[in-house]
Formats: sequence, structure tokens, C-alpha cells
Amino acid sequence: MPREIIIIFWGHTNMLYNSSLLQKSPVDFIHYLKSNKINRFYLVYDKQQAKVVTSNPLVQDVADFINEDKRDFMQHEGMFFQVNQEFDILQAAFMHKTNRGQASGGLRFWKYNSMEDFLRDGMRLSKGMTRKNALANLWWGGGKGILADNPKVDKKDKVVREKIYKEYGKFITSINGCYITAEDVGTCEEDMGSVFSQTRFTTCIPASVGGSGNPSSATALGVVHGMEAALNFLGMGDLTGKTIVVQGMGHVAEPMIGYMFERNAAKIIAADINQDLIFQVKEKYKDKNLETQLVDIKDNSILFEACDILAPCATGAILNAESIPQIKAKIICGAANNQLKNSHTDGQLIADRGITYVPDFLVNRMGIVNCADEQSGYIDDDPYFYRHLEQDYEHSVFQTAKRVLTQAKDSSQTPADVAIKLADELSVDNHPIYGHRGEKIIASLVKNKWQEG
Ligand code: NAD
Repeated sequence: MPREIIIIFWGHTNMLYNSSLLQKSPVDFIHYLKSNKINRFYLVYDKQQAKVVTSNPLVQDVADFINEDKRDFMQHEGMFFQVNQEFDILQAAFMHKTNRGQASGGLRFWKYNSMEDFLRDGMRLSKGMTRKNALANLWWGGGKGILADNPKVDKKDKVVREKIYKEYGKFITSINGCYITAEDVGTCEEDMGSVFSQTRFTTCIPASVGGSGNPSSATALGVVHGMEAALNFLGMGDLTGKTIVVQGMGHVAEPMIGYMFERNAAKIIAADINQDLIFQVKEKYKDKNLETQLVDIKDNSILFEACDILAPCATGAILNAESIPQIKAKIICGAANNQLKNSHTDGQLIADRGITYVPDFLVNRMGIVNCADEQSGYIDDDPYFYRHLEQDYEHSVFQTAKRVLTQAKDSSQTPADVAIKLADELSVDNHPIYGHRGEKIIASLVKNKWQEG
């Protein structure tokens, strides 16, 4: 019998059971779904059975993988999947926890080598959003949207792109608001406009249709407040005269560099892999002490420059057993999601080196705060936005960062462990008006056989 195909018995029906679904690329997985006439399926956590159940036994392997996973799963309430039939793109919505409200988090359009990578990324990111939203005291749960790239599709073609995002909008509408999407890596404001044309369950839409647009500048400001909290905690004053190293010069880093110069930073050293972008940023700050480096995508040597603060603003998992011993910064505080490859052991390695780490999900919240406020209409100098940047609001970036750093010091834990514990405690508080409604939405999707729609 071929290794991949085994006949199993499910109730009274013979079925093909594919034991290597997790190793398939998302495109090959779609071919498997199509050949079995599956357009939609879900994976939902069944509290009574204390395990994930699926709408379709032909993807039981995927459910088994998730049930056995100890790293990323953490009892996600629901994961919904649908094939974009025209472009063979796998569309997904991951809902980790919805106690505090609808699961909210950005939509990522990314290339994955295997279904395992795809699922792990979705779970890891949605769990991260639960923590980020809870620690920011937003009445939102945590979720993430993913479009798995099909390399054969020309994403630069505007018509194709519009179709892809419209289709994703329809998919989001079909899950009845248990997930609210937003902009993320690989997705732009125009794409969110296409999503919005098919669903009201989105944020970060263009200003022309009532949205708040790209949240990156808001995110940048929050990160700068995190840096100020760490400097204050260490008795190092403020950003005046400091040297900051920035990895990545994209949407967040570019305005962040401006905010740091406004606060009298002495020198900024920044690197990117994109020469055009470096030129643009260099031009914008031509009168400032900005040193730039063009690097290869695998080159992380920028992290090892001598400086006061290191701000990772490119990709995740760059703080690991290989990089941490070479870091010379006193503080690490940046926008990139999931900077620590392993939140516990790498957080400990950083602490052992006497470096102060400000957890990413604590300081990069302002984008999602902006999205949350976008839904409730606009006020000049919105107090619900700016309180996150005040020093005396108990849930502000500054206060929360100082609380986390102080608790970490007092309890000999790492800031990452303390922040995760605080966030996890907050994440199970139910919404003051709607309670745990997201869970009920998921239950009604299951009851109404969403997968057959
Ligand atoms: P972006 O894609 O605009 O910028 C990232 C930049 O990093 C790009 O210019 C890219 O060329 C560069 N880069 C990639 N690999 C690199 C490497 N090895 N060395 C140097 N540069 C490299 O993304 P962004 O919106 O600025 O977000 C940056 C990070 O912050 C991401 O991890 C994102 O998930 C996170 N984040 C962003 C927001 C937001 O509001 N945009 C909110 C929260 C978290």
C-alpha cells in the first residue's frame, strides 16, 4: 500500500485517509481538497470532548496534528478554511479566544512551504493577538486571517488582487462576525477596501469609506513609548542623546525613526534589504544622523551593532540562541511580532545577559488600538487612542511596560513570561455586555453546517 494513502473506516463508510496532509504545500493541499470536492472545512474546539473536531473526516489528520500540538495550539476556539476556487489560494480565519469580544487581528498574505507551517503561523499569530488585545485592555478577542500564497498567481496584477481580496471578504461574511480582519504583512489599504466591499467585518479600510487607513505610524509611536518606559525603568533618562539600531525600514520603522529624532536621539543605524526604500528613508531624514545599511535577507548582523536600544522592526524569531549572545544593546524594544524564537528560553537568555527586553506584543499594540477605535467613530485627538500613550493611564504602553519590567525584576522572571501571564489572565474576562459571544457564533456556524455553504 502506498505510504500516503490508507483505507480507514469512519462509521460505516470507507474513506481515503491521507497521512501526509501536513507536509503538503497549501496548493497541493487545495488539489487534495478539490479532488475530494471539499470547498470548506472547519476545526473547532469541543469543550466537552476537550479536543478539536473537524467538519470533514478527510482532514482528520489536520485535527489530529492540532490536538497533539503543545506549542502553538492552546485551545483555539475555531479555525475556518475555504478554497479560493479560481486562484487555488487557501483562505483561513483563526480564532484563538473570544471571551473579550470578536477575534481581531490582521490578514496576512504569505508563502508557506507546508500546511504545517501555514497552520502553525496562523495559530501562533492569533494567540499573539489574544494577548496583545487583552494587555491593551481592548474588548476584543484574538484572531488572524491568512491567505496562503500560490506562487503561480500574479499578485501584482490589480484585477487579480482585487478578486482575491473580494473573495476573502465574502469568506469573512460567511463566518458571521466571529472574526474581524485588518491589514497585515503582504496586505495593503487598497486590499482592505476590496475586503470591505464584501464584508463589514473589517478594519483598516481606506479613509474614503470611513476607515483609518494604514495603522503603522500609530504602531511606531507605541514602540517609542515602550522604549521610553524601559529607559525610565533603568534610570537612563529619555531618548535624548541615545543611539538606536533598527532592523527593517518599512511602514513602522520609517515613522518611528522620525519620532525618535523628534525626541533628540543622537544617532540611528537602520538596515533593510530594499535599496529603493533605503533611498526614500534616507532622503526623508537627510538632515539627521541616520546611518543606513543595505543587507541580504539572511544577514542579521545589524542586531549586533553597539547601541542603547535595538529595535527589531522586520521579521519574527530573530532573537534566538544564535543571535542573543552577540547583541550589545542595553534594551530591546521593537515592532516586529514574535521576536523571541522561544518566548521562555530566549527571554531567559536575554535576561541572563543583563539586557532589558520589552515584549513586542505590549508595545506594538497601537495599530490594533487604532483599528478598535475606527469602529466606534472619530473624535478629534481621540482620548481612547491617546490614553494608551499617556503615562498615568494604568493600561497605557508606558505604565504596562514599567509594571511588567518591575514585576519581572521583583520575581526573577523574564518580562516576556510576566507579560504573557498578565495577558492570559485578562484574556479570559468576558465582554461586559455580550459575554463570550464569539464562542456562540462559532457554535451556530457548526449547527447550521457552514461547511456545506
Ligand atoms: P514592512 O513590510 O513595511 O517592513 C518590514 C521591512 O523589513 C521591509 O522593508 C523589509 O524589506 C525589511 N526586511 C525584511 N527582512 C529584513 C532583514 N533580514 N534585514 C533588514 N530588513 C529586512 O512591515 P511593517 O508594517 O513595517 O511591520 C514591521 C514588523 O512589525 C512586522 O513584523 C509586523 O508584523 C510588525 N507589526 C506591524 C504593525 C503595523 O501597524 N504595521 C503592527 C504590529 C506589528
